Amino acid sequence: MLTLTDIARYYQGPMVETIALDAVNLSINEGEFVAVMGPSGCGKSTLLNVLGLLDSPTRGRYRWHDRDIGHWKEARRSEWRKQHIGFVFQNFNLINELTIEENIELALLYRKVASKERRRRVADVMDQVGIAHRARHYPAQLSGGQQQRVAVARAIVGEPSLILADEPTGNLDSQQGQHIMDILSGLNQAGTTVVMVTHDAHNADHAHRTVNLFDGRIVLDNVRLAS
Ligand code: ADP
Ligand code: ADP
Repeated sequence: MLTLTDIARYYQGPMVETIALDAVNLSINEGEFVAVMGPSGCGKSTLLNVLGLLDSPTRGRYRWHDRDIGHWKEARRSEWRKQHIGFVFQNFNLINELTIEENIELALLYRKVASKERRRRVADVMDQVGIAHRARHYPAQLSGGQQQRVAVARAIVGEPSLILADEPTGNLDSQQGQHIMDILSGLNQAGTTVVMVTHDAHNADHAHRTVNLFDGRIVLDNVRLAS
């Protein structure tokens, strides 16, 4: 589904150049659940941003099936993101002035879905993540775990084929984190490809494959066999 070939991402500073990614080769098949691990600063977020078309590699090729999407211009990338990718971040990134259901619906407004269909889909995903009873509340009225469930609902309401999660449980206690991981596992079992950055080995156990980065390079790529 996704193929990165010899991807590099350099950041040019005033004095030095930082190599965030270097010589990265990675193929991800449809339906995989990949955990990206490694020490702070090793390039995990950069890799996720490249996969999510939020960042452009300095070098290399990014293919999505047979499309060479790495070289697309921003307008086309943005359209592709909206259609095919759902993002979940550590800090939830909800809009405080909008209710829970409005936050989720926003993802569909960008996609020009008709209003009746929007309401149906928003209700469906709120049920799916167990947040329907909070539909009319505002983010500040919810716990962190609940806010992250809203963020997941927002990410999946457009039915993306790829979910990118950057430390999705980083700000949650272990019980709330477990709940989020169960939701991500369920989405993956239903066929959605998931790539997740995590520090937490416990979280990585939900994935079928672990990719370890060190200094911008992939140093380990382990597929776990079904037990
Ligand atoms: P990780 O997610 O593994 O902590 P990152 O992908 O955030 O690592 O960063 C990889 C390297 O690239 C780090 O050395 C970081 O300081 C550098 N870096 C990341 N983003 C930027 C940026 N916008 N400008 C300059 N350097 C950056
Ligand atoms: P859940 O398991 O459903 O995520 P939590 O254990 O996170 O629930 O929270 C239990 C209750 O306490 C919830 O109804 C939630 O709204 C409330 N709550 C928890 N933390 C906060 C917070 N920081 N601000 C407001 N309400 C909170």
